[in-house]
Amino acid sequence: MKGKGRGSVERAPVAPVTLREMPGTRVLLWVVDPCPYCAGTHFHPAGRGDLAEAQLRLGEVPAACDAGRLYTLQVPPKPKRTRGKEERRRARREARRKMDDDSDDW
Ligand SMILES: [Zn+2]
Repeated sequence: MKGKGRGSVERAPVAPVTLREMPGTRVLLWVVDPCPYCAGTHFHPAGRGDLAEAQLRLGEVPAACDAGRLYTLQVPPKPKRTRGKEERRRARREARRKMDDDSDDW
């Protein structure tokens, strides 16, 4: 399908997606949130419980809110973990301190 376009080489904007399973079924959905066009939430079918198949559905697709436009379904990169580790350590330390305070009451 190589249409001789009007010279527009514009790339479809990225639509960040998360994978969700429809409750009670094995149907997977790519959830667009937010849509680069209308800032809404859209759902795109992603197969039946097969992650590899779901990933094949990523890429440029017609926008759910405007079939005349495309967006690129893309899973956003995961945030770094280092911060969470530090916070967890600090929380644990605080919990221990609280326990010590309690023991002083005895
Ligand atoms: Zn939209």
